Amino acid sequence: MTENRPFLPYGRQSIDDDDVAAVAAVLQSDFLTTGPAVEAFERAFAAKVQANHAVAVSSGTAALHLGVVALGLGPGDAAVVPSVTFVATANVVRNAGAEVVFADVDPDTGLMRPQDLAGALERASGQNVRAVLPVHLNGQACDMTAIADICRAYGLATIEDACHALGGAITEADGRLNTVGNGRFSQLTMFSLHPVKAIAMGEGGVLTTNDPDSEATLHRLRNHGLTKDVDDFVDRHAGFAADGRVNPWYYEMHAPGFNYRASDIHCALGESQLAKLDGFIARRHAIADLYDRALAGLAPIVRPVPRVPWASSGHHLYPVLVDFAAIGRDRAAVMHALRDRGVGTQVHYIPVHRQPYYRSRYLEAELPGADAYYARCLSLPLFPAMTDADVSRVVDELSRVVER
Ligand SMILES: *Cc1c(COP(=O)(O)O)cnc(C)c1O
Repeated sequence: MTENRPFLPYGRQSIDDDDVAAVAAVLQSDFLTTGPAVEAFERAFAAKVQANHAVAVSSGTAALHLGVVALGLGPGDAAVVPSVTFVATANVVRNAGAEVVFADVDPDTGLMRPQDLAGALERASGQNVRAVLPVHLNGQACDMTAIADICRAYGLATIEDACHALGGAITEADGRLNTVGNGRFSQLTMFSLHPVKAIAMGEGGVLTTNDPDSEATLHRLRNHGLTKDVDDFVDRHAGFAADGRVNPWYYEMHAPGFNYRASDIHCALGESQLAKLDGFIARRHAIADLYDRALAGLAPIVRPVPRVPWASSGHHLYPVLVDFAAIGRDRAAVMHALRDRGVGTQVHYIPVHRQPYYRSRYLEAELPGADAYYARCLSLPLFPAMTDADVSRVVDELSRVVER
């Protein structure tokens, strides 16, 4: 029934000939990794999000892990993570040896609100909560002005999980506009450049910061914890010859790190894609606006996740909230029916506090906002190469399925 109408996945990358050429050029150059394409990409990325520094790594999860390690989180510490996110946001806290305190979210937007953070801190009394990882779900930023106020009051470090929000922005009360990742509200912001995200590296991630010490720490930890910077050397005897010159083979390790490097191959693709970000985001906005209008007739059975006033979304996803009870079909039936009609959908996300690992580790908190969001959310196809006709087709098929 979908002959010559290609299957529409919920997200996909857009790769052009110039992306292919950029990667091919690196393949024929002297460096496949630890070469000049990495720094060039980092400079371009930092400039794009208006941060002082960017550190390219091998995945979004590696970026999250490096972030919590760089902040010094470890055994005896805890960090607040919203329950509606990809599992990686919580897992990296555990992988650093610290404990996760799950925060609830707004039942309609899935975003951690200031009161959800306050509630989590209250539940965690007695624990040494040192950090918060707000997640800019679907591309919409959390209310970072208010969240940053709470973090300041409690002395908490902040890592923004902006995997969905590259190309998004946050407006402050005085009208000041902040590109997501500019470091206005946090120590570190991290992004994923997995192919379903705003731009693709294959596998890849980036951390941004305005703090030169954090930048140096992240770059060291990315590469096994090694430094070749003579100003860092603590063992002067081993590092320098009798004539005072630095030994040419010498390096030092002050804290064990990882191999989380991004290769030149990946960074060349990242930089080529970054040049197209504005165009991709503009198209994502146009598609989201089209969906909003086309779905109006399906309210209140199906309605778009509401937009928050302080954020311009990166529109990583186009989620709707569906009243499955009202249509008399459960989510699995709706997803199967849409798939049979050539429309891919996905659920972002199963609340992480419900995962068996976290249920068994922690007394399961009651997070009604996360449960209510999860019960209704469904992500419709959204990617820059979609045509206006594709959007109409998705809405037509969805109408048939829910009105059956
Ligand atoms: C994609 C994603 C990650 C992990 O990124 P990878 O590059 O896949 O490791 C983390 N958090 C969120 C919210 C994500 O969407």
